[in-house]
Amino acid sequence: MTQESRRGAGGEPQDDCLFCKIVAGHIPATLVRESDTTVAFRDINPQAPTHILVIPKVHHPDAASLAAAEPAIAADVLREAGEVAAEEKLESYRIVFNTGSGAGQTVFHAHAHLLGGRGMQWPPG
Ligand code: AMP
Repeated sequence: MTQESRRGAGGEPQDDCLFCKIVAGHIPATLVRESDTTVAFRDINPQAPTHILVIPKVHHPDAASLAAAEPAIAADVLREAGEVAAEEKLESYRIVFNTGSGAGQTVFHAHAHLLGGRGMQWPPG
């Protein structure tokens, strides 16, 4: 079963989920901030001078699934992204939730990309 075919799974840690392993501390990451419900860490392949991922500790396959199942935690992700942006002194930034492989999602554990430190184009590619 591919990660994407498991889109309905929600809540419980998934054994083969990279971000669940980061939450559990089984895979190292450069953490920048943690709350009761979220973790923020630097993207391993940064697409901007500041590129930080903010993820819920609970496993949901994408942002909309998270918001439907646990709206308070979805709000936590957004608030934490804003807090990280402030800590990183970003005057402007972009928050992106890729959803589905066609949109570039490669890790099927909900996550916000916080991107900043350079000019941004619109529309995105
Ligand atoms: P997406 O393509 O939207 O699913 O985003 C997944 C992101 O996770 C990509 O930007 C990857 O560079 C990033 N990523 C993958 N593995 C790691 C890792 N071990 N630590 C930090 N970021 C990672």
